[in-house]
Amino acid sequence: MGKGFFEVPIAVNEPVKTYAPGSPEREEVAKTYKEMFNSSVNVPLYINGEYIETGDTATMSPPHDHQHVLGTYHKAEKKHVEQAIATALEGRKKWSQMPWEQRAGIFLRAAELLAGPYRAKINAATMLGQSKTIHQAEIDAACELIDFLRFNVQFMTEIYAEQPESTSGAWNRLEYRPLEGFIYAITPFNFTAIAANLPASAALMGNVVVWKPSDSQVYSAKVILDVFNEAGVPPGVINMVMGDPVMITETVLASPDFSGLHFTGSTHVFKNIWQQIGTNIHNYKTYPRIVGETGGKDFIVAHKTSNPKQVATAIARGAFEFQGQKCSAASRCYISKSIWNEVEKYLQTDLESMTMGSPEDMSNFITAVIHEGSFDKLASYIDNAKSDANAEVIMGGTYDKSKGYFIEPTVIKTEDPNYTTMCDELFGPVVTIYVFDDDKWEETLHLVDETGEYALTGAVFSEDRYALEQGVKILENAAGNFYINDKPTGAVVGQQPFGGARASGTNDKAGSKLNLYRWISPRMIKETFVTPTDYRYPFLG
Ligand code: NAD
Repeated sequence: MGKGFFEVPIAVNEPVKTYAPGSPEREEVAKTYKEMFNSSVNVPLYINGEYIETGDTATMSPPHDHQHVLGTYHKAEKKHVEQAIATALEGRKKWSQMPWEQRAGIFLRAAELLAGPYRAKINAATMLGQSKTIHQAEIDAACELIDFLRFNVQFMTEIYAEQPESTSGAWNRLEYRPLEGFIYAITPFNFTAIAANLPASAALMGNVVVWKPSDSQVYSAKVILDVFNEAGVPPGVINMVMGDPVMITETVLASPDFSGLHFTGSTHVFKNIWQQIGTNIHNYKTYPRIVGETGGKDFIVAHKTSNPKQVATAIARGAFEFQGQKCSAASRCYISKSIWNEVEKYLQTDLESMTMGSPEDMSNFITAVIHEGSFDKLASYIDNAKSDANAEVIMGGTYDKSKGYFIEPTVIKTEDPNYTTMCDELFGPVVTIYVFDDDKWEETLHLVDETGEYALTGAVFSEDRYALEQGVKILENAAGNFYINDKPTGAVVGQQPFGGARASGTNDKAGSKLNLYRWISPRMIKETFVTPTDYRYPFLG
């Protein structure tokens, strides 16, 4: 920046539209959904600002209607990945020198495009490709993504403003350089906002990116690319490659210029990539930054003083919204014995009222899980729970993949706090309940802390402040996002920075400044005004 200390617009959270019957936004998204459902899209690779058709294609289908084809996408060969890396490094020459206000302008424009002309399209794409209801799509693909873009621009300027003290004889300046090399962004299927934010946050800080979206999110990834293009992200800055994740990752990690991984997805995939990076460490020009937000086994623990209706609502929303396919979804619940009967009654009533089907019918609360692999995995956990002596399916438990991958919201009850569904991440609409004796509150908190490998989100319910305080203390390391008397999902950018530790990630808190710090490498510049000319200090006499 040469000619002004510019201030960016103050970031505010994008208001969530209601999509109530008769509202204009509901009509628009319904129309867009139909148009997109009835047309076919072709998604090539995107390298150096050009679309590349490789001819090696796969089809995309709605999870709720798997025989319908939405379009095709192209898969990369090794040479395309190498081309993406080369083009990113070439693009870096200009992008890393671009003044920050120009980068800010591009991503602020992307936010406004999403808030306006692209809103219905990105929502419809997320409903079609990832089976989100309109409410879930609006919160994710529109609002959260808009928030990421607006808030990150503000956070970037706050970071740039952090400068060291200077004395009268010298001027100390911190320059926040992008990393030397390129960033590799690997994104999951379950959040359109995360898919866009992982490449965009690094690019905003002046980095260039090779982005590999999930095979199950390519449909909305294409809309993200269209928005970035129209907003003015220059060629070479964000390059998108799809295809075999192992080949793509090995090719990327073999480059000496690989300088950072921005990953969100499952724990075992991230650990394997970390290991590969370690194996290659002697080849890299710089120590790569490794950021990964991974799995969760998120808890609700309810004290005997908590309100049963509130607890049941938190389970219904926390476990079943988006079919439980949120890293933060409540999936193990510890309920005090004296309130369990009431919680069960309310939960049963809630589940009976939940309708399941296509997101096109906006009265549905439950839609399909993402793909057949996920469906089969969930069905087998449910079958096991039906036959295992130490578990019981007390609600739901049916599934059907004839048209879409539908799993009925399912509640398992167990008397074994280490039963498999109390420990494994299932990533579906299945929640397990463990009922504990009223006088075992403290013991149960330790049990919650010590069960499983994850530490992403968790919630404590109680009307007793001492009990809450015990929960806050004993569960200090059990969750990176901790909720008191609320469901453990629904973090908002700028309000609840998100991420967990242990096997849940590096806890670099997406939606805050902390994440952006990972994509910069500061240079300290000291300028001395009157430079010494004699080596002797006064004490030498
Ligand atoms: P996934 O691990 O199957 O896939 C994530 C990405 O990794 C995809 O792009 C996929 O193609 C790629 N991938 C898969 N195998 C790979 C390999 N061997 N080498 C390199 N890349 C590979 O996860 P998913 O099913 O897309 O998403 C669900 C997971 O993501 C859950 O575990 C969930 O908890 C986690 N998640 C975490 C957060 C968070 O903030 N902590 C947010 C969203 C999702």
